[in-house]
Amino acid sequence: MTASLGWRLPDEEATRRFGVALARGVCGFWPGVSSRLLVTLEGDLGAGKTTLARALLRELGVSGAVRSPTYTLVESYETRHGPVHHLDWYRLGGADEVEALGFRELCRDALVLVEWPSRAPEWAAAADLAVELSIEGEGRRVRLAAQTDIGQRVADDLLKSSQEQVITSSFP
Ligand code: ADP
Ligand code: MG
Repeated sequence: MTASLGWRLPDEEATRRFGVALARGVCGFWPGVSSRLLVTLEGDLGAGKTTLARALLRELGVSGAVRSPTYTLVESYETRHGPVHHLDWYRLGGADEVEALGFRELCRDALVLVEWPSRAPEWAAAADLAVELSIEGEGRRVRLAAQTDIGQRVADDLLKSSQEQVITSSFP
C-alpha cells in the first residue's frame, strides 16, 4: 500500500467525471495489449460502481451498450487501448468460482475492472488500484488506494487532474 486518496462526489455527474479521469490516467500508464491492470471497485449496492465503470469505458471509446455484469458475470470490450473486462463477483461464492470464471486468463493482457472484490479477497489483493465508493448524504465518497507502482502512477495522475478541476473535489 503506497497511498490513499479520497474525493467527495456530490452527484452522479461527479462520479462520471471521476470515471473519465480514471480512464485518462489508465490510458497514460497502462501499456495496453499484453499487460495487465487490475482495478477493483468496492462499495454497497447503488454506490456507483457500474456508473463509474460505464463512464470509464465510454472514455476508452466504447460506444455500444455497457451492461452491468451482475448477471452475465463478465462483459468484455475491445477498446482503442486494448481489451477490457468488466466483472461483477456479487453472485460468486468465493475464490474457486473466480478461478472457474477464467479470471487468470482474463487478467493476462487486459484492463480488468471488478465489482464486489470482497467476494474473493484472495484474488482482489492483487489489484493495482483499489477504488472504494460509499454513500455520503445525497452523494458519494470515493477512496483510492494504489497497491502497485503502476497503480500509484494512475493515482498520481488522478490527483493532478483533480487539482486541474477535472473532478469536483474536496479532500477529507
Ligand atoms: P452499483 O454498481 O455500485 O450497484 P450503480 O452504478 O448501478 O451502483 O448505481 C448507482 C446509483 O447511484 C445510480 O442510480 C446513480 O445515478 C447514482 N449515483 C452514482 N453516483 C452518484 C453520486 N456521486 N451521487 C449521487 N448519486 C449517484
Ligand atoms: Mg453494479
